[in-house]
Amino acid sequence: MSTPQLILKQRAELLAVLCGGGSAEPLDCVLDLLLAWEVLVWEDYLSIQVAEKALSYKVRQLLDVVYDKGEDACSCLLAAMNQVLPEEQKAGLCFGEECAVVGKNRPDTATLTLLADRPVLVRKLRDNIDGALNALLTTGCFTIKDCDAVQLPIYTPSQQVRRLLDQVRFKGETAAKTLLQFLEQTETTRPNPEDKENHPSANCMLYQKKLRSSVAAQSHTLSTYGGTGHFSLDDIYTDGLLEVMDGSGETTTLGLEDVVGPVGTLNDDADTFLVSGEAGSGKSTLLQRLHLLWAREALLTNIFLLFPFSCRKLNAEHRELSLKELLFLHCCWPDRGQDEVFQFILDHPNLVLFTFDGLDEFKQGFTDEERHCCPTKQVPIPVLLFNLLQGTLMKGVMKVVTSRPQAVGPSLKRYLRKEVLLKGFSPGGIDCFVKKHHSDPAMARRVIESLQANSVLLSLCHIPVFCWIVTKCHQELLGSQDGIPQTITDVYLLVLQHFFQRKSYQPQGVLGKAWLEEHLDTVLKLGQLALESLEASCYVFSGYELQRIGLTEQDVSMGFLIYCNDLSVTDCKRYEFLHITLQCFFAALYVVLNRNSDRSAVSRLFQSQYRQLSSLSQRCLGHCIDSSVEEVESHVTETPNLQITAQFVSGLLSQRHHNLLQECCPTAVRERKAKQVVKSLSKGMQRHFKSIPRPVEGEKKINEVQCCLDPKFFQNILKNKEGNTGLDISESCSLRNNNISDEGIRKLLEKGMKCERFQKIALFNNNLTDACTQHFAWLLKSKQNFLSLRLGNNNITSQGAEQLAEGLSSNQSLQFLGLWGNKIGDRGAEALADALRNSTTLIWLRPLSFFSLRLNKNCISREGVECLIEALKMNSSVKEVWLRGNNLSPEEEEELSKQESRLTF
Ligand code: ADP
Repeated sequence: MSTPQLILKQRAELLAVLCGGGSAEPLDCVLDLLLAWEVLVWEDYLSIQVAEKALSYKVRQLLDVVYDKGEDACSCLLAAMNQVLPEEQKAGLCFGEECAVVGKNRPDTATLTLLADRPVLVRKLRDNIDGALNALLTTGCFTIKDCDAVQLPIYTPSQQVRRLLDQVRFKGETAAKTLLQFLEQTETTRPNPEDKENHPSANCMLYQKKLRSSVAAQSHTLSTYGGTGHFSLDDIYTDGLLEVMDGSGETTTLGLEDVVGPVGTLNDDADTFLVSGEAGSGKSTLLQRLHLLWAREALLTNIFLLFPFSCRKLNAEHRELSLKELLFLHCCWPDRGQDEVFQFILDHPNLVLFTFDGLDEFKQGFTDEERHCCPTKQVPIPVLLFNLLQGTLMKGVMKVVTSRPQAVGPSLKRYLRKEVLLKGFSPGGIDCFVKKHHSDPAMARRVIESLQANSVLLSLCHIPVFCWIVTKCHQELLGSQDGIPQTITDVYLLVLQHFFQRKSYQPQGVLGKAWLEEHLDTVLKLGQLALESLEASCYVFSGYELQRIGLTEQDVSMGFLIYCNDLSVTDCKRYEFLHITLQCFFAALYVVLNRNSDRSAVSRLFQSQYRQLSSLSQRCLGHCIDSSVEEVESHVTETPNLQITAQFVSGLLSQRHHNLLQECCPTAVRERKAKQVVKSLSKGMQRHFKSIPRPVEGEKKINEVQCCLDPKFFQNILKNKEGNTGLDISESCSLRNNNISDEGIRKLLEKGMKCERFQKIALFNNNLTDACTQHFAWLLKSKQNFLSLRLGNNNITSQGAEQLAEGLSSNQSLQFLGLWGNKIGDRGAEALADALRNSTTLIWLRPLSFFSLRLNKNCISREGVECLIEALKMNSSVKEVWLRGNNLSPEEEEELSKQESRLTF
């Protein structure tokens, strides 16, 4: 088949791979190559890269342009895609005969050289955009405005380089020459791993080979798929959302290759890169991907040796070790020339990278009290680790550390070069993951549809571990008689059911109603192991520990425990739970179902000995846990796990699981435990709300309370508190990222209305819809001292905005209304504008208060903005209206902001 035919026939597939995952990077790389090969001329490129057009438009345009150019061009396009796409995305695609890209003569102008070398330049300049811009600025080729346009934070570093190259081309030959000169200079000053002096000996090369192959073997499969065996990391890996925040709070999206790049650097003197994210957000998997790509020489190519460590495994190392022993015993043993290899490492820190997965699971909290800098002296593991992270030992070696954010205190922050946040999957990422997981497209479609029909479940799936569970348990999910899971506890019960189902000899779907009771013995044994070890910050178990608890081979074969994937030299088998959250879930089951547990087990979980530092007290049930006693450092690390456990205990004891648990645990015992939970939580919440300081006059920052409760349980608390204990909502309440339902809001506001000092509420990133806006309208109408309402990133449409507008028009006190990231559209903007216009009489009632309205990303077009401008003419108390990311062209934005200076685009 000819290559134009191949392109035509595979058009849908080619479109899908170049758009899949929502990143423009694959398309950009293909365009770089086609420009370099002179398949595309500059005009073609401009006709494809049209700003404001969707990615799919650009890909279609590319396919059309190349198709029109005929056979040779089509061969080159297929060759470029073959080169750019990762192996897993190429499966099933046909790229035709290998096409030889004819080597052209070196171009004779600097501008053409930039084009011919574009693919390489993008890679080279990515780490040195600042330097290049500086050179262009100081030679007068670029203005500050040019530099700002290149470095807009919405662009990834690679995109910034491409903008830079495009701008240089636009400026002409002098600018192009300046850039080439700059590149030449940096090449000569930068240490090159190929230099003679850096050149590794044969023994070092052998060691590298051995290390690469053991790292590759270790990172090839994903542990959660260990039992089933047929998923390699390549098959299933889906890019997560990575962000860095600069000093001013602006965030930039990063690619995997930028984790150790310069973007987002906060401290040039430090060498430790932190990847932080909640449990299950994919930190270990990301690191594993980094390892695998390094082992294949596909990423981090300037790193000669990469040493991967797991903090949970380092916990089990009780010997004192030197750095040399740590590297060789825990990662890879050099078969020849041990001293020579170690000397090479010491001499070339810039060619070495260490990774430490799960610092939050390391038994001891970080401290920089004990200094140690001798690579051959034996010291306890914590001393070794902390000195590596600080850079006291092996300064210059890059370290990548993953952790949950809670475990990173100020003492460690000082040693961080930058912090990258891993935010889980984007909506496109969820779809992509499900499609990779299910080879049957019809099944993938059904799972995606069922997720889209359940916003609670869909929002859970942004966290990859939940996405994995939901996808894995799709059968139970799609065929569930007990309704679709609504809470995290429901999801984990589903996983439990799924694993037991898998091992049961009954035909599919026949797991009886009393399935939990049938497997109670296994559940309790696993639960005991989970709880006891959580309390001791232990996540890896020997066979002996399993025996002590009475866990049999059959229990282990259920699949909740897996063998540790370990590079270290050790003979005995070791086990860990599939995921730390699963260990927490078993611990919670044990707390709830164990009849013999002492009476204080529940309250102990919520109480004193596991309290946390006040700076860490912002997450989960943190503030509900007593923090009155002095902190003991070593407990910091287990606190988040015990919080998750407490959350599961709350979920399991809620009414919705009554039927399931009733056969496993006497009602009286369960009710007693439920009462204890409610009591502990209400005490904790009251204590926390009371501890919020009163705002001082003019204070800008809103006090925040975060509360990640199981939403249903949250409602229960409110219900249980009515009449007797009374929930005290003081001046402000922030419940962002909480899955709070519209019904939950009604109850919360009912409570708030009774509280004189309740004046601010932040509810961004929940799943609020128009069904709750009437409650806010009512709040605004009835509470004339209310100050701030933040409803960003919810699902509010024009109807909701109309209701809010109604409330706003009769309110005299509100100073801040945040609605970014909803879908209020022009109709909603118009309704708000009317409210502002009509409330002019109220301006007299609040001459001193200024009002700020945030409407970024709300699908508003010119029409809506014009209504707002009209309203602003009549209303001087509005200080600002933010309208970034709406449906307006840059020209329209410029024109409209000239008409009204209070608009911010
Ligand atoms: P964390 O280290 O943040 O607790 P993990 O990396 O252990 O999270 O992720 C938990 C599970 O979620 C993994 O075992 C895997 O099944 C799934 N997962 C996480 N990240 C990804 C990813 N990028 N692509 C595919 N699956 C992922």
